[in-house]
Amino acid sequence: MTDDRASERDRLVDRLRRRTDASERVLSAVRSVPRHAFVPDERAADAYADRPLPIGEGQTISAPHMVAVMCDLLELSPSDRVLEIGTGCGYHAAVTAELCETVSSVEYHERLARQARERLATLGYETVRVRVGDGREGWPEHAPYDACYLTCAAREVPDPLVEQVRPGGVLVAPVGDRVQRLVRLTVGSDGIRERTDHGGVRFVPLLGDH
Ligand code: SAH
Repeated sequence: MTDDRASERDRLVDRLRRRTDASERVLSAVRSVPRHAFVPDERAADAYADRPLPIGEGQTISAPHMVAVMCDLLELSPSDRVLEIGTGCGYHAAVTAELCETVSSVEYHERLARQARERLATLGYETVRVRVGDGREGWPEHAPYDACYLTCAAREVPDPLVEQVRPGGVLVAPVGDRVQRLVRLTVGSDGIRERTDHGGVRFVPLLGDH
């Protein structure tokens, strides 16, 4: 049994508490998830630094503060059903899973999806399901969702994703090309009702979109 590195996570959470407005509920979700189990072995030493790390296929795991900010913007309840676009290594999905009922996550790269699925199962995240596919189409079989977020940047949030979120639900996404903004959209009965801007961000692109 390896050291679970809880004290490093405590220090990380202290930093996030200073650096973000994330709620204690979100911070405690970050504290629960062993980020070192999601990154490649050669990166494990850096797992509790607040920065993105490479995870293969030219993709990156987001910095912990970004995961916390995005989870916070979704304002999740324990009964919520969430759609994630861009599973990557599965870390963000695991933090989200601590805050809601189910996470349905779509990943473009078959290898990343398979590894994330195995890792999440090993760690006991039974409420996260992963499928390989083009996230621009969402995952209609499990719609409607209470919330959706993208971990890759879209020129504009694809319509099918807006359609798969229930009225009153929320979407959070990095939007833009080289210059990206983190946006939060509230869905109404007839499409997007409200859009707020949460600052400049830098994410890998939504594949197929650029
Ligand atoms: N949430 C991830 C971050 C992964 S980076 C984590 O915690 O590790 C963004 C991910 O989006 C990458 O894995 C990339 O392969 C995926 N992605 C990019 N375009 C996509 C698309 N069109 N459909 C589904 N996934 C996509």
